[in-house]
Amino acid sequence: MKKAKDIMTTKNLTRLVIGMAVLMTLVAAYVVATNRRGPIIGGDVVGKECTSVVVVASGDTLSKLLSQQGLSHNEITAIANVLKSDAGISTLRADKDKIEFRRAQDDSPVSKIVVIPSPWRQVELTCGEDGTWQCNTIDIERDTRAVYRAGEILDGDSFYLAGMRAGIPAGILADVYDLLAFEMDFERDIRAGQNFSVLYEENYSNGQKIDNGNVIAISFKSLRGDVKMYRFRKADGTTGYYDENGNGAIKSLKRTPINNAKITSSFSGGRKHPVLGYTRAHKGVDFRAPTGTPIPAAGAGRVVARSYNRGHGNYVKIRHNGTFETLYAHMSRFAKGVNVGTTVRQGQIIGYAGSTGLSTGPHLHYEIIKNGKHVNPMTVKLPAISNLGSGDKKKFIEYRKVVDTAIEQLKDRPNLFIQM
Ligand SMILES: [Zn+2]
Repeated sequence: MKKAKDIMTTKNLTRLVIGMAVLMTLVAAYVVATNRRGPIIGGDVVGKECTSVVVVASGDTLSKLLSQQGLSHNEITAIANVLKSDAGISTLRADKDKIEFRRAQDDSPVSKIVVIPSPWRQVELTCGEDGTWQCNTIDIERDTRAVYRAGEILDGDSFYLAGMRAGIPAGILADVYDLLAFEMDFERDIRAGQNFSVLYEENYSNGQKIDNGNVIAISFKSLRGDVKMYRFRKADGTTGYYDENGNGAIKSLKRTPINNAKITSSFSGGRKHPVLGYTRAHKGVDFRAPTGTPIPAAGAGRVVARSYNRGHGNYVKIRHNGTFETLYAHMSRFAKGVNVGTTVRQGQIIGYAGSTGLSTGPHLHYEIIKNGKHVNPMTVKLPAISNLGSGDKKKFIEYRKVVDTAIEQLKDRPNLFIQM
């Protein structure tokens, strides 16, 4: 991943090369035709060498797989040690990791083992003359392309449906949703006729598409105005998302902790009803969520309450900083390891939706408390996690112009991509 992040620099982007979509179509067809899957890919003979590939299955251990290949107990221990010390690999992941075994001939002992933990990394283990195993990590070269997709919200649409129709892959769409959720209220800001666009990375290796990379830029024409976000790498090497003026787009708190949840009851302040004369307030927002839906922390902070009361049922309260606290009520249960005093990160699951306390059905009741007062989560101004200093800001503005120019080029030619 490190490499892809480095690629998106102003320097590289200004050297734009536009490739033809025909190539991509051909590549896609090739990938489909050659992508064979299965636990054991087989015993292909490569030249004189014999190679077999094993996809790690659930319950497989390194020693099990190695002993199946005829390696001795001592060799297995030596390989496990060098893998751990030189490549940082101590456990295998089912359905993710692959191991290649190479032999000089069909019936000769294994001479080379290649552990493949990701499409972008290979760890080669070779046995020397003296019988010791050596380890060499190879980073696979990737070729990253920026792809542009644009769509429109139709009548009765959700952003998710419109995004799928626009050809945005599900994983990218989820990232876009997470980013937009800092700025938008998907319940109330979405209307038919609104346009959106996404520029994102596709990673290729040897002409084959391997996976999608990062979201580079987002634009959404919402009711409250255009929302724009750009991924940018600061001089200190950290990346983040910023609006067109360089203000941090990722906020310290999320307005909607649960993605895609419908709002069933909005916030209303504690004002006296003019006719009835009594105060009727709803100090939070209710999101429809089936029992058991994981509830992520809206922001990083420390758990200050994990308790039960008659109104809230099971609830968790998090203090985020000197200003903000959030509260999550009616949980069916708490997440393991979440106690008073626990430090949580943004997005960490703290409990599961339910209907405990005064509740008419399973939902999440979510409150944001600012300086001790309840505020409307949908409209409160939230602080950004990271803002740009003046040097970074200048660079960002230049970079943003380059990205905008690239988008303009792709807009009218939806089948093109940018080689990065
Ligand atoms: Zn409520």
